[in-house]
Amino acid sequence: MSEAPSEARGGTRGDASGNASARPPAPPAIELTGLSYSYPDGHRALRGITLRVAAGERVAILGPNGAGKSTLCLHLNGILEATDGTVSVCGLPIAGADGRVKDIKEVRRRVGVVFQDPDDMLFMPTVEADVAFGPSNLNLPEDEVRKRVERALGAVGMEGMGERSPHHLSFGQKKRAATAAVLSMEPEVLVLDEPSSSLDPRGRREFGELLAGLDQTIVMTTHDLPYAHELCERAVILDGGRITADGPTDEILGDAGLLAAHDLELPHGFVMDHH
Ligand code: ADP
Repeated sequence: MSEAPSEARGGTRGDASGNASARPPAPPAIELTGLSYSYPDGHRALRGITLRVAAGERVAILGPNGAGKSTLCLHLNGILEATDGTVSVCGLPIAGADGRVKDIKEVRRRVGVVFQDPDDMLFMPTVEADVAFGPSNLNLPEDEVRKRVERALGAVGMEGMGERSPHHLSFGQKKRAATAAVLSMEPEVLVLDEPSSSLDPRGRREFGELLAGLDQTIVMTTHDLPYAHELCERAVILDGGRITADGPTDEILGDAGLLAAHDLELPHGFVMDHH
């Protein structure tokens, strides 16, 4: 029998890890309810999206051009604000029409967005400076920033390339550097808009391996159905600003009628190896 007071158990390390069984369940990584969005010109890009992504899930957002995929991504860290409905990430509400208080800085610390074009994300003279940019803005101690930069460059296989100029990298390397710049914020959720677009076959494979090795919750839009199959156990089809299907990726991609109805095509001869 232990004489230690019960609050000493698991509560002495000064962090939030404590005892796993005593912790309340993690809030969903993403929770959208009735999310609608109209661009300032009146174009209604999202029409009542309800979607819940659990912590640790990997979800592919599929759909034809103009479906609203990028618009959806831009809501996940508060770049765009809902016209109607609500958006929460990691239990933090981003204000919708109800005008709830939001902490956008905290939201952006938890959710990292990797845009399609890495040139939109790299603007410093060196890779290292780009990767350090986010953590430096969190006012972290210098050695913590350095550690994060090293870890992030390691996670994308760019150790020792910190001194390079982002502008002189290949497209695949730029993509990895841009991803490192997001990972250095140590986000819980990673949102990727068309991660494989413009990558050559090797760059596509290497970037896929990198993503497969991450433990973040992942939401990615893609036209690349084999990539979705490889990396995400769940797929959602978005069309006309609405979710029209949501289920295991195997099932969604195995439904030829569903794919055809939304202008989605598997490459000729693609054979699905079931997970
Ligand atoms: P996707 O990523 O699925 O191709 P988008 O989210 O980019 O789709 O676009 C959804 C719809 O919103 C499209 O009809 C598109 O033309 C429109 N749209 C996108 N950006 C804007 C904008 N800045 N202003 C007005 N309409 C826009």
